Amino acid sequence: MKLLLATNNAHKVTEIKAILGSFFSEVFTLKEAGLSFEAVEDGTTFEENALKKAQQTLDYAGNQFDAALADDSGLCVDALDGAPGVYSARFAGEGHDDAANNRYLMEELKDVPFEQRTAQFVSCIALVRRNKEPICVRGAVDGTILFEAHGENGFGYDPYFWYAPLKKSFAELSPEQKNAVSHRHNALVLLKEALDGEDRGLL
Ligand code: IMP
Repeated sequence: MKLLLATNNAHKVTEIKAILGSFFSEVFTLKEAGLSFEAVEDGTTFEENALKKAQQTLDYAGNQFDAALADDSGLCVDALDGAPGVYSARFAGEGHDDAANNRYLMEELKDVPFEQRTAQFVSCIALVRRNKEPICVRGAVDGTILFEAHGENGFGYDPYFWYAPLKKSFAELSPEQKNAVSHRHNALVLLKEALDGEDRGLL
C-alpha cells in the first residue's frame, strides 16, 4: 500500500516511518511526491482537522496513492478550559510566531499558581484509505506550564512545558528523549496497534 504523508516536516516523517513503515510498501512526503498542497484546517477539534487534512490530501493526490496520513496537534491548558487547543499555532493571532504565542500564554496564566497550571500536548493522527474505514487516534502527554522558558531544543510551547517524570521542560530534552514520550509518539503507537488489530482481523 502506497502512503502519502500530509507533511514535509522531517522530524514527523522520521517518527512516522520508524513506527508505521512496515505496514506500507512505499511512504512519500508531499515534496517527495512532487505535490504542493495545503489542506484547510478550519475544524473545531483535532480529530476533525486531522481527518479533513488526510482526506483532502488523498483526494488531491488522486489514484497514484492508496492512503494518506495527517496529524493535528496542540497544547490544551486546563486553567484556560483547554485553550489554545486547535488554535495553538495562532494563539496570539493570525501571523504570530512561537515567541508571541508564548508571551500571550504567560499573560493569560500570570495569576495561576503552579499546581493549577496543568496541561496536555495532544496529537490526533488520521489515516484515510480507499475502500476502508478511516482510522483516527489521539495521543497525549501531561505536563505543567512553567513561569519562565527553560531549554533551547524543540519548538512551539516546549520551553514552558514541564515534564515531571524527567524533571525537565520539553525544550531541555534531546530530540530522542522527547520523541520517546511525546503526544505524537503516543498517537503513532495507538495507530500501529489499530493496524496490527486489523491484520489480525480484530477490527
Ligand atoms: P501542528 O499541528 O503540528 O502544526 O502544531 C500546531 C501548533 O501546536 C504548533 O504551531 C505549536 O504551537 C503547537 N505544538 C504542537 N506540537 C508541539 C510540540 O511537540 N511542542 C511544542 N508545541 C507544539
